[in-house]
Amino acid sequence: MVRAFRQLDVTLRSGTLAGVTDGKMPLRAIVATTASKTAAALSRAAGRGDGSVIGGWIGLKIDPDLLAHLASGRAVALVSGTNGKTTTTRLTAAAVGVLGRVATNSYGANMPTGHTSALAKEGHTPFAVLETDEHYLPQVIEATRPKVVALLNLSRDQLDRAKEVAMMAQLWKTALAGHPEIRVVANADDPLVVWAAAASPQTTWFSAGQRWQDDSSVCPESGHPIERAGGDWWCVGCPLRRPTPQWVVEEDGVIDPRGDWHLVKLQLPGKVNLGNAATALAVAGEFGVRPIEALPRLSRVTSIAGRYAQVDRDGRNIRLLLAKNPASWLEAFDMADQAPTLLSINARDPDGLDTSWLWDVDFSPLRDRPVLITGDRAYDLAVRLQVNQVPFQHVHTFDEALAQVPPGRLEVIANYTAFQDIRAVLDRVN
Ligand SMILES: [Zn+2]
Repeated sequence: MVRAFRQLDVTLRSGTLAGVTDGKMPLRAIVATTASKTAAALSRAAGRGDGSVIGGWIGLKIDPDLLAHLASGRAVALVSGTNGKTTTTRLTAAAVGVLGRVATNSYGANMPTGHTSALAKEGHTPFAVLETDEHYLPQVIEATRPKVVALLNLSRDQLDRAKEVAMMAQLWKTALAGHPEIRVVANADDPLVVWAAAASPQTTWFSAGQRWQDDSSVCPESGHPIERAGGDWWCVGCPLRRPTPQWVVEEDGVIDPRGDWHLVKLQLPGKVNLGNAATALAVAGEFGVRPIEALPRLSRVTSIAGRYAQVDRDGRNIRLLLAKNPASWLEAFDMADQAPTLLSINARDPDGLDTSWLWDVDFSPLRDRPVLITGDRAYDLAVRLQVNQVPFQHVHTFDEALAQVPPGRLEVIANYTAFQDIRAVLDRVN
């Protein structure tokens, strides 16, 4: 850290600061920006990740308003929700890129430190698309004054956070109520999201084909049951019901607000990513980007921080799928091919220490393929699979799993730290 400040001092004296901003920022913000970039660069050089957290942290220590200063003058979109925000952010940044340079936190550093670092690193760009942790959305709205906020979904991230889902919807609702100028792009299929977004005067609704519904069976407004039929839903005790979406996933494409259907070709697998692409098109649409301009860019996105990455090793084509909560396990089963599948579960801090969420996931779709299991909590998973009547084989390491399957595709579905472990074995694939 001492080195970081020494470097900063050199930068200040050598007068290279003019290039880092558009010349309108206060001196403190300029100094903070430079310190942030320097610390991030040193952290990267020291092999400690991409440095975005430490860089942003230092910048905000020097100037608590740094994020606001850096966001000023940019058209910003924030992307928030429990699932899909990293991928949707990546796709949205690609789509908005039609118009000009876009700053984005593409490594999933989705709190204000990460945002600060991402904007400092990119220098002045006309646009920014920022993945935003659900909890921090109100704070980041205040700091960045976004043009667009995209609300994807709200579901339990881990069992020990279950009660937070309704609180989160309330938090969003309150934050948006104070900013009627923000254009909200929101998921019509999620009652909690609809409730949070409905008060905003400028809301565009999308339907991305959400399947997970277990966290929204009670109306957040009146406490009555939510009823569902086909794709529709409504509260039996108050006027809350599914709004008509302007952007809709249909078959392997998306219908836009004018009613035109566009074929969506992605390198990312599964229906869930088609939904993420529809959301990205809707957000980019608020900036004036047309689907026909954005689609070629979406089709070039291959993997995001290792997710969906494919690695060839010893004749096996390994594909990595991250699943961090019941909703995303369901999506992962949909994405995975009918091929040998390795499941890896840890229960370290970032995963949540409680594995009882395993009982909320129906593993029966895996019955007709070879299943291998590993990870710190493989035995919890074993019990769950046994009850679900899914045959499996336990392996101690990733290499052992590789040796057990024939040449061809190996699907790997893992929760957060288990995913990072396997990524490390495969040399930090991107
Ligand atoms: Zn109701």
